[in-house]
Amino acid sequence: MSLYPLFADLTDLPVLVVGGGHVAERKVAALLTAGAKVRVGALQFTDTLTQWASAGRIEPILEPFDTTWLDDIWLVIAATNDRELNVQVAACAHARRILANVVDDPALSRFQVPAVVDRSPLTVAISTGGAAPVVARRVRETLESELDHALGPLTALAQRHRARITRRWSDMSERRAFYDWLHDGPVMALLRNAQPEEAERVLLDALSAKPSTPEKGSVTLVGAGPGDPGLLTLRGLRALNQADVILHDQLVSEAILSLARRDAERIDVGKRCGGRHTQQERIHQLLLEHAQAGRRVVRLKGGDPFVFGRGGEEMEFLHRHGIACEIVPGITAAVACAAYAGIPLTHRDHAQSLHLLTGHGKESLDALDWPALSQAHQTLAVYMGVATLGIFTQRLLEHGRHPDTPFAIVESGTLPQQRVVTGALYELPTRAKLHDIRTPALLVVGEVAAMANDYHWFGVSSPAIEVRDDLASTPMEVCAHD
Ligand code: SAH
Repeated sequence: MSLYPLFADLTDLPVLVVGGGHVAERKVAALLTAGAKVRVGALQFTDTLTQWASAGRIEPILEPFDTTWLDDIWLVIAATNDRELNVQVAACAHARRILANVVDDPALSRFQVPAVVDRSPLTVAISTGGAAPVVARRVRETLESELDHALGPLTALAQRHRARITRRWSDMSERRAFYDWLHDGPVMALLRNAQPEEAERVLLDALSAKPSTPEKGSVTLVGAGPGDPGLLTLRGLRALNQADVILHDQLVSEAILSLARRDAERIDVGKRCGGRHTQQERIHQLLLEHAQAGRRVVRLKGGDPFVFGRGGEEMEFLHRHGIACEIVPGITAAVACAAYAGIPLTHRDHAQSLHLLTGHGKESLDALDWPALSQAHQTLAVYMGVATLGIFTQRLLEHGRHPDTPFAIVESGTLPQQRVVTGALYELPTRAKLHDIRTPALLVVGEVAAMANDYHWFGVSSPAIEVRDDLASTPMEVCAHD
């Protein structure tokens, strides 16, 4: 069966829905949105349908089906679970040359209602001709995540200025180039950033000015999340799809990089602790060079760009050089690792505040307010702390945090090889050593950390290893890896 796709203008046209359940209600809602005059016939209505009837939004008929329901009707949808009734409705409609749809019954239907992705006024309709609605649903999900929500306002903007655009560019290929610019350039970026007036001004400028002012590049700082590609945001994914160049950290997984546009240039500017450092200035220079060459640059960072990610410095640098810079947040390691280990970072019974700390180097540790951090009922999430676990623990104990305070170390959080090691503060360095904790790892200290023992749900949990007395009594050691 091959169907003829069409979009119907039902404004003010009488249509009939037979059925008063939840499926019927959804059909009625869509028809009302399309501006149709909806008659609904059934023996019983859902609460919502009843409300719509009393508000005068629909014409209700609370009776057994009668062919007169079809009088003046342009379109019928049968949404009952009474197959005989559905057959009867379809037959009556057919006899009167009215197009009818029977929900989930392509054999009885003269038209089918597609799965829809709504970016009004842009609508994408998907149909498998009734062959496999599940496939249509999957395609819809894919499109839902890929189609930018700003496409709606962009389409509306193009509609408002369509006549002027057509006049300005009578040559078809020039016009197409203009629409490409509209879709890929600053107008779309402004709409995405909730600046519709500015977007319209840029569009109008482009319509009045001579074309081909050289396009300036831009940089988007994107947080890739902690590793699991499922934790990338939709906006991050879209930025990756549009990037000409991607400068990424080493912590960003291949699974995430493979989501980027195939022909995008990838530059690894990774600076893993212990490896050779790429200077931050070099990264700044690369960002600037590529943006000034007119490219769309994505600076892809692990976790969130603004949490121990030097995103702030990159933003300031770009701003100084007049390069447009957007920031797409990512799920930061503390939030992700805690969630994947079953640890609520705050909890009414156990923790009233959360501190994000870095354990990178002795200087950053010296700068911390230890008396404050050593109070009970607060959660400490420590980044880059593997090398300084010993000093960290010692300082907390010296300042009075209880030795039995629970901790959890989440190594390679959200990745298939995730490990969680738990214990009490006094034995933290010893345990970390016994389990050979390696970077990247996030340390959580606080009453909530104990919840990992019961609520941990992702990956394996390291089996509890008894701390040997001789190990437990050695002075706090600095772990070798990081
Ligand atoms: N901007 C990043 C943090 C960069 S600092 C963010 O917001 O998450 C790097 C540190 O983050 C690592 O040393 C480690 O402590 C932590 N980290 C990053 N990814 C991690 C992961 N998958 N599992 C555990 N810790 C992680």
